Amino acid sequence: MRTGVLRTPGGPRFARLEGEQAHLFDRAPWLGGKATGEVARIDAGLLCPVSPSKIVCIGRNYAAHAKEMGAEVPAEPMLFLKPPSALLDPGGTVLLPPESARVEHEGELVVVIGKRAKYVPREAALSFVFGYTAACDVTARDIQRKDVQFTRGKGFDTFCPIGPWIETELDPTRARVRCVVNGQTRQDDTTAHMIFDVPALVAYVSRMMTLEPGDAILTGTPEGVGPLVEGDALEVDIEGIGALKLRVGK
Ligand code: MG
Repeated sequence: MRTGVLRTPGGPRFARLEGEQAHLFDRAPWLGGKATGEVARIDAGLLCPVSPSKIVCIGRNYAAHAKEMGAEVPAEPMLFLKPPSALLDPGGTVLLPPESARVEHEGELVVVIGKRAKYVPREAALSFVFGYTAACDVTARDIQRKDVQFTRGKGFDTFCPIGPWIETELDPTRARVRCVVNGQTRQDDTTAHMIFDVPALVAYVSRMMTLEPGDAILTGTPEGVGPLVEGDALEVDIEGIGALKLRVGK
């Protein structure tokens, strides 16, 4: 099933998406939302499909990306947070902040939590997942390298575009993740190359912080990260989900 958030005259509405049609829900599907019978057209505009209490991110989860960063592969998942204020709708514009001279793309698979999760065992972890979507973990690389932690370099407004919708049927062990800038493929790998897979990540994060329905886990980026400049057309395309299309501006 494909679930998204549609722009409607009455405000954002969760919906099941089928072809060009959106079957509107009364609330978020992970809160027990049901279809109301109202139908709208998807071209009314899709918004960010999650409204997370927190956005948990995994660093260096692909060996080739750790290497290109000149970093070691971590022995345990490396966690950091992005603020919900960084979220950006599909079709939105990533804004390059004047504080940075080097902003980079990181295309990533996103796990969307469906049920409250605390101390979840790895074997049960997938039953706490609602579905999957795409994100760009936009990063001011110069600031990330300068600061001790990642909050500033990865926390600017618009630095967390997510979407375009959530796919519930995806197999997260073998999804192709691509990041394309101006028609040129910059990142192209499969989630099969993750160091810590989705069940391991959900279980691990749930030991530190309670995962709430609607929370998002960005699972790390493959190699090939590179700079974004004003005017770029940016796309994170995940096989089995679809393409999150964005612009880059100032
Ligand atoms: Mg990342």
